[in-house]
Amino acid sequence: MKKIIYLDHAASTPLDSRVKKVMAPFFSGKFGNPSSLHQKGREAKVAIESARQTISELINAKPSEIIFTAGGTESVNLAVLGTAHMSANWKTDKHGLPPHLITSTIEHHCVLNSFKALTGEGCQTDLIDVDGQGFVNFDKLKKSIRPETVLISVMYANNEVGTIEPIAEIGKWLKQINTERFQNGLTRILFHTDACQAAGFLELDVNQLGVDLMSVNGSKIYGPKQTGFLYVRSGVNIYPLIFGGGQEKGMRSGTENVANIVGLAKALELVQNDRELESKRISGLTEYLVKGIRQKVSEVLLNGPDSFSLKAGRINTGIKKEYHNKLTRLPNNTNFSFKDVEGEALMLYLDSYGIMVSTGSACSTAETEASHVLTAIGLSQAQARSSIRLTLGKQTTKIELDSLLKVLPGLVKQLRKVKNIV
Ligand SMILES: *Cc1c(COP(=O)(O)O)cnc(C)c1O
Repeated sequence: MKKIIYLDHAASTPLDSRVKKVMAPFFSGKFGNPSSLHQKGREAKVAIESARQTISELINAKPSEIIFTAGGTESVNLAVLGTAHMSANWKTDKHGLPPHLITSTIEHHCVLNSFKALTGEGCQTDLIDVDGQGFVNFDKLKKSIRPETVLISVMYANNEVGTIEPIAEIGKWLKQINTERFQNGLTRILFHTDACQAAGFLELDVNQLGVDLMSVNGSKIYGPKQTGFLYVRSGVNIYPLIFGGGQEKGMRSGTENVANIVGLAKALELVQNDRELESKRISGLTEYLVKGIRQKVSEVLLNGPDSFSLKAGRINTGIKKEYHNKLTRLPNNTNFSFKDVEGEALMLYLDSYGIMVSTGSACSTAETEASHVLTAIGLSQAQARSSIRLTLGKQTTKIELDSLLKVLPGLVKQLRKVKNIV
């Protein structure tokens, strides 16, 4: 049997064996309900609180600021809907303007569809466009705030093209804005970031980032699926999505999934402790892959930022200087457009060789529309459909990339021939 080569780590990562190990006791002996006051309950409660402590230290927060959820989607929904539903305008000022929320055009669907739902409820929303490399238009963002704005949500790193957004810079600017708003009696604008793709590689210090809310999930960091947390800064009040027994300070009722919570904390600890070394190793491999593909395949375009190393990329946000010596692209992300090639066909052919990649976003495979991210960075529908994403992981080796580089040029050639005959 042929060995499989998995290059779709932005969609899902395998469970780290060390994570599995710490989860195991909670599938057998340690089955207690954390709300129970007896020994079995206390044992489970201690495990949850220890996980909360671990996570809070990793992101420079307090344990009381962590709310466990069932994944990135839920964390994001809680942050976005929870902010809108809590907003004073919404609840008390019937004749005033409804809350206004801002996000970018290249967010994950869990953000975009939360915004859509709020539009349906009567909220005002704005989507800020991005430049050709996926960086949010900071000038436009600045100009889009209004007195009734309650939330800005910008993703930390993009899942399709790997763009790392200038979160700390936005946070710094917003802090200044909120000081002015306070003096003028206006509501504070909360800042949320979807850090689901970032957690494996980037600094998560919430104070350095200047965020009030941050979503992280386990499935992208070698942890269990349907696990995640929302960081909620002390003093920030949001409205829950799920009501019941009042677990997670009333923010997320329901008996806690103790095994998953313990696994999530372990997974985050492992990737965050390793992230600098792993970023270096994996960006080397990514550069090797990009170089190889450019050498062996003609008419290929790398979508997203063009720098993988710790150098400044071409940032179009007016804050260029602060960007030096920072990553501008996730070190494991590549996304290519192959002229005159059907991305989906290429993906399926590669799959038949045991090489797993993705087209657009794996979360919307049923869609026939071209990726909203690729079109937002300026690709035509045809270019967007000719794209595949390759995302490397902890177990990716140079040998695997060489195997890919051996079959890819022939497949591209073959598919181009088919296209030209038709
Ligand atoms: C995967 C992902 C999500 C959704 O997380 P789930 O745990 O699958 O709900 C949200 N945002 C980004 C950027 C992601 O990559």
